[in-house]
Amino acid sequence: MIDVPLSGNSDWRKVLKTLPLPLSVETDPLLVECFNLLSSGGYVGVEKGLELFESNNLSGVSALADLIKKSRFGKHVYFNDNLHVNTTNICVLACRFCAFRKGPRHNDAYALTVEEYLHRIEPFSQMIDEVHSVGGLHPDWTVTYYEELYSAAKNTYPNIHIKSLTAVEVKHIASRSGITVKETLSRLKSAGLDSLPGGGAEILVDTVRNRICRGKESSDEYLKIHEVAHELGIKTNCTMLFGTVETLRERAIHLSKLRNQQAQSKGFQCFVPYPFLPDKTRLPEAQLASMNEIIRVIAISRIMLDNIPHIKAYRMNIGSHVASIALNSGADDIDGTVNHEEIMHEAGSSAKLDSDSDELARLIEDVDSVPVKRNTTYTDFTRYRRKPDNGRRNLPVAQLV
Ligand code: SF4
Repeated sequence: MIDVPLSGNSDWRKVLKTLPLPLSVETDPLLVECFNLLSSGGYVGVEKGLELFESNNLSGVSALADLIKKSRFGKHVYFNDNLHVNTTNICVLACRFCAFRKGPRHNDAYALTVEEYLHRIEPFSQMIDEVHSVGGLHPDWTVTYYEELYSAAKNTYPNIHIKSLTAVEVKHIASRSGITVKETLSRLKSAGLDSLPGGGAEILVDTVRNRICRGKESSDEYLKIHEVAHELGIKTNCTMLFGTVETLRERAIHLSKLRNQQAQSKGFQCFVPYPFLPDKTRLPEAQLASMNEIIRVIAISRIMLDNIPHIKAYRMNIGSHVASIALNSGADDIDGTVNHEEIMHEAGSSAKLDSDSDELARLIEDVDSVPVKRNTTYTDFTRYRRKPDNGRRNLPVAQLV
């Protein structure tokens, strides 16, 4: 197996070139072309990406993505110790795919005070190094609320990284406060905001956005807000919500736009694709994604996003079973311990919320991979060794050919 540092291999294209092609790749001219492009310093654009989405050789697409992942990270798979805390479910928008938002007078509407936010973190504060916080677009909250929130969290828990705010939240806060996006992000960074989770990209094609989330930021605005964050030294992730009304070409366009943005601003650290979940939403025409489609999207992401380091199998949405398959199809990260999650669970996810580090490590080892604990910004890594199981059966993992 390829020997790769815990942080990954920056010269992965050279390694890729030396790896033997699995039969399912070697016999497929499209995949050989993609392999040659990537190993010689090129990239896979929209037209080739679309062909990958239309290919009838899913095992080959997955095998190529796995090869790329192994050339970058060997057998390492990353996770962290984190907690999700949503600040409010009150939102002035009503995206049709969203099961989370509530109107201000709804019985289940909530908006956390700073004290309540700290109280949510407190029981987990010794176990986590990241809090992931997003929420609705509260009609009254300005930048001041978030400044108070982040500075209180940093003062109380200085070692916890604050990963917070979708691009549309940033836009809303800026507009409610009468200041620019740049000023908003720079004030929030000073208050303690460390990175952005990247949610809300949906599909970066405005005709699709107008059908599923009218009123949200445009595709260009999503990219621009991330660009401003990158300019300010704030790392971000980026996402894709698929399986609503988009075409395969629009998925390929989405990936290509993220790649182009990364070529300019270089601050995306991880791409997180997740399928639409329909419970309590208002999108009867959504096409929904099958498990094969989820694996295909993750694999094609790895192939097309050559300049974004990490691809996440987002367990909170796709569940541990599909996530474990994705780890052999291009994904190198399974997010964290999470502990609490509302957005995906309101929409129908039944992903387990109380997984500890040992359980995540076992999931990783079960697919013949090596668990590595990371921090949010992928700058600190530890090989994770879990407590041994007593009498648990371990079966060898079949190798892809
Ligand atoms: S997705 Fe976000 S912006 Fe859209 S309705 Fe839900 S909470 Fe509001």
